[in-house]
Amino acid sequence: MKATASILLFAAVLCAPPVHTQPDRQDRLLVRFDNVSRDELVRTGIVTEDDYGHGNLISLVLDTAWVILTPAQRDTLSGRGLRSTTVLEDADTLRLMRRAMYGPRLQLENPFHTYSTLNREIDSLQKAHPELVRVFTIGTTTAGKLPIRGVKLSRNVKKDDDRPTVLFDGCHHSDEILGAEICLAILRTFVERDGTDPEITLWLDKFQIYVVPVVNVDGYQVVTSGTDPRWRKNRRDTNGDGIMEFTDGVDINRNYDFNWAHGGSSDPRSERYRGAYPFSESENRAFASLARAKHFVASLTYHSEGEVIYYPWTWGGRKAPDDSLLTSIARDIARNIVTIKGDTNYRAEYGAGLVGQSYPWLYGTLGTFDFVVETGRGASFPPAYLVDGIVRANLNGVRTFLRRAGGPGVRVSVTDGHTGKPLDAEVWLPAIETEDVHRRSTRQESGVCYRLLLPGTYLIIVSAPGYEPLVLRDVRVDESGWTKIAAALSRPAAR
Ligand SMILES: [Zn+2]
Repeated sequence: MKATASILLFAAVLCAPPVHTQPDRQDRLLVRFDNVSRDELVRTGIVTEDDYGHGNLISLVLDTAWVILTPAQRDTLSGRGLRSTTVLEDADTLRLMRRAMYGPRLQLENPFHTYSTLNREIDSLQKAHPELVRVFTIGTTTAGKLPIRGVKLSRNVKKDDDRPTVLFDGCHHSDEILGAEICLAILRTFVERDGTDPEITLWLDKFQIYVVPVVNVDGYQVVTSGTDPRWRKNRRDTNGDGIMEFTDGVDINRNYDFNWAHGGSSDPRSERYRGAYPFSESENRAFASLARAKHFVASLTYHSEGEVIYYPWTWGGRKAPDDSLLTSIARDIARNIVTIKGDTNYRAEYGAGLVGQSYPWLYGTLGTFDFVVETGRGASFPPAYLVDGIVRANLNGVRTFLRRAGGPGVRVSVTDGHTGKPLDAEVWLPAIETEDVHRRSTRQESGVCYRLLLPGTYLIIVSAPGYEPLVLRDVRVDESGWTKIAAALSRPAAR
């Protein structure tokens, strides 16, 4: 039905007589304002802020704004004392946006990476440090069928063992490319400073660190190739017209199956389009299968922008079961990341629970303490000269995160009491975990699970199908590290 309609439309366009006056082909101006504030611009009513590439304010980083205006609008603003520089005049709005975001060459500048230069760097890290870095594939993209790469970073990296796991991931939204830069910087920094930086050396021993720099690979290629700086969703041809154009795609940060129906938009043209059904997108299935296999204790998910950390959650007035611990970690990380301006630090705020984003899914279904770091401010990606500073500030957040991801908490190892075989078991803390979240479980291959907790005394119930549940009372969690619990389950006695 849709295909027929678009063929007819296409034919109609071909047969139409030449049009001489097309109001939307009028030239627009790309205008730069220096020393300006958001308030000054927005209160004119001419400059509109609309996220996701639909407003005429393209970016406002520090006190420099890039705006697309008609000549008359520019003159009106100038009449009100808002002095500007006209940088480019063009009928093609996308060209103006590209100039604003990519600079005069209309190409992404150093130190940003394209997908191939990013991969080349990661490959050379693996080659130089095969004992620390292992590259693998978590799945493929929906449209381009390209591999989505994951990197494991750890001492004895080739062996998957029962040490705690953590995750860093970037670019669910492909225009938010700072995430890829921060993930790459984590890999580089850890490899370079192993043996000289005592904390990093210890973390490489203690953790199995996973990094997925770019989840939305297809979209990332659109943005980093200089084609379209707005591209946020994946590359599914949502309107089915065979043409990949702006507003096509699924927002893969709305496609997870935890509270999917309550979040995002059902309108395929929306930049928050959640997809036809949960896990309709290959990127989401790939990410989820990695997360399910590895049972990350905690994770940092990079987005842009806002200089804020979102964490689970506020859900119709209810907070997450681990609210006080989540809040304490989120605030700690936020406090340790300085803003671009340098005068203050990131803020920590509750994120929504009722949305198919990755953080409610990670926390709600698996128990992973996920924190969304919205890096940068005023644009989905900043001018190149600011990148190093933002990345460096965020590496400080990574350090704070890792200081908190190693406990206090419990390490529960569940085995069959008769055979000693590790068990895929549920580990339930009934005083904490409400019906809002799924039961947490052990990693199948090792029978081990780690769970962050505030120091205190806890009741833990361990269960597996076919075994007698084990009730552990008065489990004491100390001020630091993991309280180790060995739970050997037995089969019910035969009658
Ligand atoms: Zn985002």
